[in-house]
Amino acid sequence: MKTCVRCRQEKSLDSFYRNKRSSDGRAYACKECKKLARSKDVSRRDYEKRKPTVSAYYKERYASGGDESREASRLAAKAASGELSDAYIRRLITQRSSLLPKNIPSSLVAVKRLQVQILRLAKEINDEKC
Ligand SMILES: [Zn+2]
Repeated sequence: MKTCVRCRQEKSLDSFYRNKRSSDGRAYACKECKKLARSKDVSRRDYEKRKPTVSAYYKERYASGGDESREASRLAAKAASGELSDAYIRRLITQRSSLLPKNIPSSLVAVKRLQVQILRLAKEINDEKC
């Protein structure tokens, strides 16, 4: 007879799986406890799989709004959080074209900065309405 470390019940050796690494050649927990632990593991794994991920949340959240509104609010948030530096504006432009930052004329940077400022204003107006 052997006492299971989990349920503390004394059971015959047949109730324990074989385990070569253990001193008596049997597992520490009885078969029933092992099965129970395994089924718990499975349900936990299932739960992790079902748990919505952060990216899935954002995907769903933005699925209703178009690409434009998402982009605009992202840019507005960025613009509001920092200075509209030339480097920043140039990066914005290169995101949408094949131009290299150094090849962007300063007039284009100025126009883009205005656009960002307009977007930021639009966001503020939109926030006030809510
Ligand atoms: Zn047990």
